[in-house]
Amino acid sequence: MRVLVIGSANLDLVYEVERLPAPGETVLAAGSASYAGGKGNNQAVAAVRAGADTRFIAALGRDDAGDRLAAEARAAGITLLDRRVDASTGTAAILVDRRGENSIVVDSGANARLTDLSAAEREAVAAADVLVLQLETPLDTVAEAVRVARAAGTRVVLNAAPAAPVPPPVLRGADVLIVNEHEAAALAGPGADPMTALTAHGCAVVITLGAGGALVGSPGEDPVPVLSYTVDAVDTTGAGDTFVGAFAAALSGDGVEALVAATGFATAAAAISVQRKGAVPSIPTLEEVREFRDAR
Ligand code: ATP
Repeated sequence: MRVLVIGSANLDLVYEVERLPAPGETVLAAGSASYAGGKGNNQAVAAVRAGADTRFIAALGRDDAGDRLAAEARAAGITLLDRRVDASTGTAAILVDRRGENSIVVDSGANARLTDLSAAEREAVAAADVLVLQLETPLDTVAEAVRVARAAGTRVVLNAAPAAPVPPPVLRGADVLIVNEHEAAALAGPGADPMTALTAHGCAVVITLGAGGALVGSPGEDPVPVLSYTVDAVDTTGAGDTFVGAFAAALSGDGVEALVAATGFATAAAAISVQRKGAVPSIPTLEEVREFRDAR
């Protein structure tokens, strides 16, 4: 399976604090660490660990953070097609208190410069079996990538996260829309049944339900529930990204059965990830997912 991810890459700066600071207040951190992050990066790692031949188009700054993210992506086995731009690499400052509550500030930085796909980037879209997109990339780029993919017969998996309005032509251009419950409700609009409203765009829809698993819908068909695995969750950070990357890597064949099969695989990968701390470090390999499923 050839998966192409177009999306964000950030350096996550995580600070452990006793409590989140009030406006105007300074608090001392008990510790801090930095990790590769961003939805695009995390989903590319999830796809490559799930066994897909994975390419990743990302915009990075000409800085140490950009060098580090590029090196880590390549070390993970991803073919990185990076653009270096005159902006700082994206960063996220994440403050986590002792109850697990967090406050996050994201500076998109270089990610906002991922505009106007080059000829080589369009070729990469056309050469992929599955294109994975999220909404941390400029919407015009998402729309352009969808158009190129459709013309080339590349399947589009759109993870409409973080929650934001998506123009109907982009939704119509997606083969599979993956959203969590909040994103589904926001996209569907007030009072609408999310699955009915979203499949009306003509795309298949997977709504993830946290510990409740996922709901798989296709236009005109009854939704199929896919149960999650019962596990002791210690940190759900990155569960959604693990799900999306694993889903894309496992998506082969047509029809509801293929969607349910990929969702089952993604549900297992995500169930492993929530038992481990962090985002990228928690993403399992194909072998780990197979062993986990065999043991159930
Ligand atoms: P996050 O923002 O935490 O990365 P999300 O809000 O995008 O996640 P969720 O629906 O919370 O998405 O989780 C994605 C998938 O991860 C679920 O469909 C499920 O398969 C798995 N998952 C999440 N939480 C749990 C849990 N407590 N136990 C088992 N599986 C879980």
